[in-house]
Amino acid sequence: MLDKEITNLLTYAELHLMLDELDKARAARQIVRLLKLDGYSPLYESDENAVDVDGMTSPNKLLEPLIASAVERGAVASDKTAELKADIMDALLLRPSEINDLFADTASVNRQKAFDFLYDYSVKSGYVDLDECAKNDRWEAKELKSKIEVIINVMPQASSSDYPPCALCYENEGYGASANKRTVSVDIDGEDWFFTYSRHQYFDKHGVLVNKSHTPPTDGKDMLGKLACAADFMGADGFVGINAAAENGGAKNSVHEHFQTGYRYAPELRAGYGNRYKSREYPYIELGTVDWYNTVIRLSHSNREKVVEFADKLISAWNGYSDERISNSDGKSNFANVVARKIGGKYVFDIILRSNGVKKPRIPAEYNEIKTDALGLTDLLGYFVLPTKLSEQLQKVRLYLDGTTPFDKAALPADTKPFGGMIERMLKEQGGTVSSLEAKLNLHDEIDAACEKILSQSAVFDAETIKPFFESLGIYEL
Ligand SMILES: [Zn+2]
Repeated sequence: MLDKEITNLLTYAELHLMLDELDKARAARQIVRLLKLDGYSPLYESDENAVDVDGMTSPNKLLEPLIASAVERGAVASDKTAELKADIMDALLLRPSEINDLFADTASVNRQKAFDFLYDYSVKSGYVDLDECAKNDRWEAKELKSKIEVIINVMPQASSSDYPPCALCYENEGYGASANKRTVSVDIDGEDWFFTYSRHQYFDKHGVLVNKSHTPPTDGKDMLGKLACAADFMGADGFVGINAAAENGGAKNSVHEHFQTGYRYAPELRAGYGNRYKSREYPYIELGTVDWYNTVIRLSHSNREKVVEFADKLISAWNGYSDERISNSDGKSNFANVVARKIGGKYVFDIILRSNGVKKPRIPAEYNEIKTDALGLTDLLGYFVLPTKLSEQLQKVRLYLDGTTPFDKAALPADTKPFGGMIERMLKEQGGTVSSLEAKLNLHDEIDAACEKILSQSAVFDAETIKPFFESLGIYEL
């Protein structure tokens, strides 16, 4: 029973996951035990066995019949299939120490190849499930000046079988639905951290760098020093960022210290300088604002200590700053997100200044439906992650725009009610109902524009209003 399926999976692991011939029989027995089968007889090169395993990019197709059989036979509860999948794959994978050795050996010759190896392994192991990620509704906002990407996240959230105390903890490697997770150890400024790719590939090569201890984030100079060290680790093609640099009111979604990492060319990181400035105290540091929707200050130099020192001064000054537009009387309204990269031997820091104390104009009702949570690092970099329920809401809105459902603003159901004003305006702009495809594209444009406005609203300064802040730091425009 299932001999053919297990043989195919073993062949897949040999081809894609470096399963050694000598480890094959043992792995097969582990799988037999996990699936609660009576036994397994290996099949060799028979026609029966002819599946294009070589061309496969994920184990999903091979796992499907095994999982279906296990559920049918009652060998696994139907809500525990994610754990079973992870356990089966874990039986076929290299051990954490072997992954670490391979990563280190490769990195010593070519750092990018080491990351490529780990990424490929994480995908082929089924931990990063690109089939699941592809379910997310995503598009590029082509009409905008800076091409932000919009992602409506419909991928199921990570399972609840996390190792305590939290989902980021190092101990998740090999546990529950993360049994097939693999990490590599990293020294970050003298501390033990690890790197792994994220299940949710919101953007290219989305990963996390995590402290091996379940410890709250540090801030100030310590945090900036760690970021610079992490930028060294990520190498030429990567970035590393932190959600909120300050304790103050930032979108602190974690009690476990970690950074987000990704591929260098996020929309915000592609943006060039707006205005250039110079610091009297650090005249050698390249400094400017970034031509982006909100307030980003970019600084760069090859001397790590000096860049960290200057960035710390800038953020500390910002945390205590207030003027007639920005109220910050208790010193808790301002915070910053920081992204670090290492480009051509230079440490490049993008500091995104943010505040809850800036008075903003009222926003249209639908904005609260489009973006329900605070802006996180991902959004700020131009990857706008929108809530799952929006996918269904927009499908319903589209039916009004293409005339499938007659529009009556007063009689809208609760889930589309917040979009009443928007639908009314769009119907007017369209000159009535349009084709289904046109309605979809118009809706994308509408969401793009909303994201752009939400991002712009998080700006705290413009070229004029930033002057007193910079002057207080001895920074002048070039
Ligand atoms: Zn933790």
